[in-house]
Amino acid sequence: MNPNWSELKREFQQRRETAEEARDKRRRAIYGLIPEIECLDRKIAETGIAFNRELIRLNPDAETIREFEKNINTMIDKKKKLLTNNGYPENYLDIVYTCKDCNDTGFLTDSEGKPGVVPCHCYRQLLVERFYDISNLNSDGQTGFEFFNELYYPDIKAPDTYGIQESPRSRAIKIKSKCLDFVNNFEKADFPNLLFTGPTGVGKTFLSKCIALEILKQGHTVLYLPASAMFDIIYRSKYRFNNEEMPDDAYRFILDAELLIIDDLGTESPSAAKYTELLTLLNYRSAKNTKAPCKTILSTNIEPEDLHITYSERIASRILGEFDILSLVGDDIRIIKRLNQSDKT
Ligand SMILES: [Zn+2]
Repeated sequence: MNPNWSELKREFQQRRETAEEARDKRRRAIYGLIPEIECLDRKIAETGIAFNRELIRLNPDAETIREFEKNINTMIDKKKKLLTNNGYPENYLDIVYTCKDCNDTGFLTDSEGKPGVVPCHCYRQLLVERFYDISNLNSDGQTGFEFFNELYYPDIKAPDTYGIQESPRSRAIKIKSKCLDFVNNFEKADFPNLLFTGPTGVGKTFLSKCIALEILKQGHTVLYLPASAMFDIIYRSKYRFNNEEMPDDAYRFILDAELLIIDDLGTESPSAAKYTELLTLLNYRSAKNTKAPCKTILSTNIEPEDLHITYSERIASRILGEFDILSLVGDDIRIIKRLNQSDKT
C-alpha cells in the first residue's frame, strides 16, 4: 500500500538493467558468430569519441563534422546489413525496454529529448498496481484473448437449459468479438461500457481480464477490483472507518482509472449507502468519459432484468441504458477443465 517514489524508481532501474543484460547477452552471442560486428562496434565507439571531441572544440569544423557523421552512418548501415544477411533483424542488438515510450525511466522525455517530469502511462499503472497490491492481471499465464477457447461452450441449441435460442458457443464467439470492438474503440467517448452477466464459471472474469490486458498495452491505466474490495475502499476512504489510515488516493484511483473493472457485482454485502456510492461513481465516470477515456466494465451473476431488485431502479436504468449487455451462458468452465484434467491422468 501507498508506494513511495524510491520504491518505484528501483523497479524502473531493475527493468532497465534486465533489458540491458538481455541485449548484452545477445551481443556476446553475435560477436562469437559474426566477429566483424565486434570490430565495427569498436570502430563506431572510437569514431563517436573523436566526433564528440570535435563537437566541443571552440570552432568546430563543419566539414569534419559531416565527415564523422557520414563515417558513423556507413558503419551502422554495414552492421545492419551483416545482421540481416545472417538472418537476424537489423535492430537485433538494440535494447528492448518494457515500455517504448519512456525506455523504462517512468518519465516522458521533454521536447529536447531529456527525461522530463511528466510521468509515463507505465508509471501511473505501476503506481495503481502497487497501491492496490495487484501484481499481475495475467498471473496464471493463461489470460489473454489467445487463450479464449470456444470449445468450452456447448455447441447445442437448448433454449430450455440455457434460456437462449442460439447455442452457447455461437453466443460466446459473438461476445468475444464485441470485447475486441470495445478494445479497438476504447478512446471513443460514445462507445458504451460493458456489463457481463451469466452464471458462475462461464468466463466473465476471464474476458474482462483479457480486455484489461489489451487496454494496458494501449498505455491506459486499468484498475481491476472485486466489488466487495472496491466498496470497502470507498467506504473506508469516505468515512474513515475505525480511524484507519486510508489515503484519499485510494478512492481517487477508483474514480479516475481509465478502465475500471468491478468484478462480481452483487456479491458484496448489501447496503443502501453502497448503492448511493455506486451511483455517484458511475455518474462521475460517465461525465469524465466525455473528455478522456474513463470506461467501466461490470460483471455480475444477476440477470439484467433482476438488477432493479438488488440495486435501485435508478442504478438499474443507468446500467441498462449505458452498458452493452453481454450475457454469457454455458456450463461451468472450471468444472469442465477439471474433468478434462482427470481424463488425462
Ligand atoms: Zn513508460
